[in-house]
Amino acid sequence: MKKKNTKPGQTDNEVLKEIPLACIDETAATEFMEKQRWGEIPACPHCGDTDVVKVMGEDGKRNKRYLWRCHGCKKQFTVRIGTVFEDSRIPLRIWCYAFWKACSSKKGISALQISRECSITYKSALFLMHRIRYAMTEPKQKEKLQGTVEADETYVGGKPRHHQTKIEGIKRSIGRGTKKTPVFAIVERNGNVRTKVMKKITVETLKEELIKNVELSSRLNTDDFPLYRNIGKPFDGGHGIVNHKIKEYTRGEDNTNTVESFFALLKRGVYGTFHSVSKKHLHRYINEFAFRWNARKIDDGMRVQKAIRSADGKRLMYKEPISKTA
Ligand SMILES: [Zn+2]
Repeated sequence: MKKKNTKPGQTDNEVLKEIPLACIDETAATEFMEKQRWGEIPACPHCGDTDVVKVMGEDGKRNKRYLWRCHGCKKQFTVRIGTVFEDSRIPLRIWCYAFWKACSSKKGISALQISRECSITYKSALFLMHRIRYAMTEPKQKEKLQGTVEADETYVGGKPRHHQTKIEGIKRSIGRGTKKTPVFAIVERNGNVRTKVMKKITVETLKEELIKNVELSSRLNTDDFPLYRNIGKPFDGGHGIVNHKIKEYTRGEDNTNTVESFFALLKRGVYGTFHSVSKKHLHRYINEFAFRWNARKIDDGMRVQKAIRSADGKRLMYKEPISKTA
């Protein structure tokens, strides 16, 4: 019989109490993942049936592969099926550890750290972390941001190109006007962030993102970058501009402090934890930071649960990353 899993998962305290053991013991890790994914009602990932049983070994313990059997479709399954860790050979205890670290460290955790701390190859760690970042990618939201909404862009990325640094007398430009990759972020004050790695920053591309993500009744706040000058016209709440050039950071209720805090966190992560991030993978890291930002009001344990639950159903859409760069 099909039942919808409406049961809540574990509480924050329960998650935090169980996760240390789940990071060192494979059975504990499997049962931990099962609880986070299914709550109290395990369901067959093939057909959704909840008439399922654990396969037990002769010793009365769980089968070595942690199999379940479904009475509905007669197939076997494990907690890995239909998730980002489906065809991974990496033990679930390492997945637990990586999920925990990725959810509880403000600046994220790098594949290099995971590789060292869990004694797995860098390549495996990179693969694992990219999958966790993919799990953390939030689905497209129908609801738009509203109220006071701050927008800004920043530039993230590698070192300037070789020939640029070689020519003496040419000042290395930072930010706007460099070869770095532009990232646009829109933040609802006291709410969520939406981010986008941009190919090009123009009035049109910025406007398109704003209209796509923000209710027209909102009030827009930006700095005085010329491209933003007329961009607030569609918004009924008006457009408040702060003039950074004259060191004005707030004008009445208008400011861009929230979106700047998000970028500060992102940059501390990109340069402090990951050291550098290739353009190709940048969106993954940004998704990770957006996930943590949007889940900042819930506790670490609940954030772990949210991330693991988000791993569900992502198996098929996932393309393997090329593991040359981090
Ligand atoms: Zn089934």
